[in-house]
Parts: sequence; C-alpha cells; structure tokens
Amino acid sequence: MTHSNNQISPSLVVSDGKGNVTDMENYRAIGVSGERILEIQPDEWIPLPDGSQLMELPGRLPVGIDRQTGEIVTLEESDGEKLLPVAAFVAPAYTIGYHAAWERRPDAPWLSLYAYCAVGWYDGKFYVPATRIDPDIRQDPLLVNRPQIERSAKKLSKKYPNNRLAAHLINNCALTYGCPAALNYLLNRWEMPLPTSRACNANCLGCISLQKDSGVCAAQFRIDFTPTANEIIEIAVPHLETAPLPVVSFGQGCEGEPLMNPDLLIQTVKGIRQKTSKGTINLNTNASKPGVVRQLRIAGLDSMRVSMNSARRNFYEKYYKPTNYSYDDVLESISVMKELNGFVSINLFVFPGFTDQPEEIAAVEDLIGKYDIDLIQWRNLNIDPEWYWETMNPPDEEGIGIRNMIERFGKTYPNLRHGYFNPYLGN
Ligand code: SF4
Repeated sequence: MTHSNNQISPSLVVSDGKGNVTDMENYRAIGVSGERILEIQPDEWIPLPDGSQLMELPGRLPVGIDRQTGEIVTLEESDGEKLLPVAAFVAPAYTIGYHAAWERRPDAPWLSLYAYCAVGWYDGKFYVPATRIDPDIRQDPLLVNRPQIERSAKKLSKKYPNNRLAAHLINNCALTYGCPAALNYLLNRWEMPLPTSRACNANCLGCISLQKDSGVCAAQFRIDFTPTANEIIEIAVPHLETAPLPVVSFGQGCEGEPLMNPDLLIQTVKGIRQKTSKGTINLNTNASKPGVVRQLRIAGLDSMRVSMNSARRNFYEKYYKPTNYSYDDVLESISVMKELNGFVSINLFVFPGFTDQPEEIAAVEDLIGKYDIDLIQWRNLNIDPEWYWETMNPPDEEGIGIRNMIERFGKTYPNLRHGYFNPYLGN
C-alpha cells in the first residue's frame, strides 16, 4: 500500500447551509475515530477521488484546530453566516480512515445512510484521509459513457421485451439510480447485478433497502417482484459469455437476502451452468443458511461474499438483529463454502475507531485464520457514526488506525487478498 509523501496540512471545510462550501484557512481539518477527535497525519491525506461527493451536515457545527492556539474549537458562524460541517462520501474502491468532526445539536435527526469521511482543503484541492484499496476500475465514474448507455438501454429493452428483470436493471437501477453495477451490465462489461429477493431474515440497523421507524430513509427501494429463473438466466448467460472479466452477482443493495429464495437460486445457478462454464457466479449474502449455500456451491456457485459489521458475535447480532439464524450459521456457511473449495470474501463494513479496535482485530484475525478467508473487501459503513456508536455501545478501546490494520493483515496473512469488489475468478 502506498503512503502519500504529502507534508500537507489541509484547512477545515465548511458550508453556509445553502450548498456553498469554503475553506477556513485559520483552522486545520481533523478527524474522528470512534468518539476520539484525532489529528490526521500528513501522509494519510490523498486528493479527493473523482466520483466522490461533498455533503453539508444539517443540525451540526464544524469542529477544527485553531492554527494559532492548537486548540480544538467548534465554529458557529463566520462573518454573521451560520456554518455547517462538511463531509465527503468517498468514491467506490477507497477505504476511509477517519470520520468528519462535528458537534451535533441536541435536536438534530440522524444523518442519512452514507459514510461521512473527513475532508480538508489545501493548495486548490480537496483532500480526504482514505486509501485506494482496490485498483480495479470497474466503478470509476469517468468510464461511464452516457450516449452508449442510452443506446444500450434501447437495444436491450427491444431484445428482452418481456423480461421484468432486464426492465428493472435498465429503467430502475441504471437509468434512475445510476447503479454502477447496472451501468456495467448495459455496457456489457465486468460485474452485473442479479437482484431477486424481496424479503430478508435480518433487520440491519443500517439496511439501505428497508428502514422501519428509524427516522432515516432507505437509500433505495427494494425490488417489488421476484424474477423467474428463466428471466435471470436469459440475461445472465450472454453477459458471462461476452463481457470482459465477467461476474454475475446475487445480493444487491436494492433487495433483501437472496438466500430467502433457495429453490429459485439453485435452479438459476444450475440453469446458467448448463448453458455456460464461463465467468464467475457470485453471491453477496448474510450467509444465514448453510444448507442452501452447500446446494448452491454444488450447483455451480463460484464465490460468496459475506457481509458483516463485526466479527464479534455480540456486535454482529446487535447490528443484524437476525431472525431464525445466528452468527454460528454465518460461520457454518463460510465453512461449507471452503470445504467445497469455493471462494469466500468478507465484506467488512469499515467504521474508523470500531473496526480497528484491538478486540475487533483479534476477532477478524480469528475468522481469517480459522476459515482461510480468500479476500477482505474493506467497504465503508454507510451510517450516521453517532447513531451506530450509540447503538453498538462498544468498549472504550482506542483503534490502531484503519490503514495500520490493513497493513498488519498484509504482513500477517500474505495470501489474503484486499479489495473492494467481487473478483473475476477465471473460467
Ligand atoms: S441483510 Fe441486507 S437486506 Fe437484510 S436487513 Fe441487512 S442490509 Fe437489509
């Protein structure tokens, strides 16, 4: 992993609450890890990646370091203008090291489901404390050719007039949400999504497709129909046959848990493998049903990505609130996939100050060691940090730093892959 050789000290970035951001040069930008406000080391800053977004945070006040006094200060206003803090929602393939610093007003509602990274301004550019964890360019925004997308949408709609899943991916996921995986389907390249499930046997605190009574809105609506095996096979096989580095993935942000439809998935995977041996069939899942995972692997599933906020049982169950399954089932599913020589990734939701706590590191290391995990996807947890911290109520243990954790795993587990995306595993 490359360390930037910056010796920079970015300034605090604030907003006027009307969408205008500016830097406060008399104040240095700082970060938050868990509940600790920490200095960000000069070499931890990188230029804000293309495809990232800046967010002003309502009901909160910016916090920075006074360059004169070195004190941590909260800013209410500047020249009579009320100020709001600003955070960065960093582009895919980057893992954040710190959350943005702010002071929340008592009556402020929880923030929407994004990862709020610290951001600073230096020498004409925005900077963030993040790491490019995956060199794969599949979701680089500059590679999205709009006119080609429009043409492909028309062509595929004509080719699959009665396929509801094709229509969902084209009109809803690609043209409405701009989902990078759905856009790659339209551009016939890399990983395509196969959402199938309306239900889930978990009730995650930060579920992006269904939020009940939390006061936070879900980031996207759940798919409102269940495709047939034929509908899925009809569009998956041509992608596996013709796309470069082809992957098809069940378990998307716009659905529940794919394992809730075992027969559909087993029939579909069998059907795909009867037509082609090409590409990688992947399952993004909460891994709650080891018996179904076994049947899927036997049917031809190549890889499984298991999502988890924590490898500590109590925090896993506090976040997932599982119904009729437990963390033991998750471990059993991983064991089954490995026993049958399947490829297993852990989609570890990264939360600075929680994920890098020594207790969490020990739990993740235990998981990697015991099950010979193939890949860790270091994905940022999209949730209001204060809501998560308050709900998890973790021990008051200082983190070692996300970047240090990744480097440590690199040394301890030389065969373990690090990334952000589901890899193409060859034919
Ligand atoms: S497992 Fe996925 S779909 Fe189910 S509650 Fe959690 S985030 Fe939502």
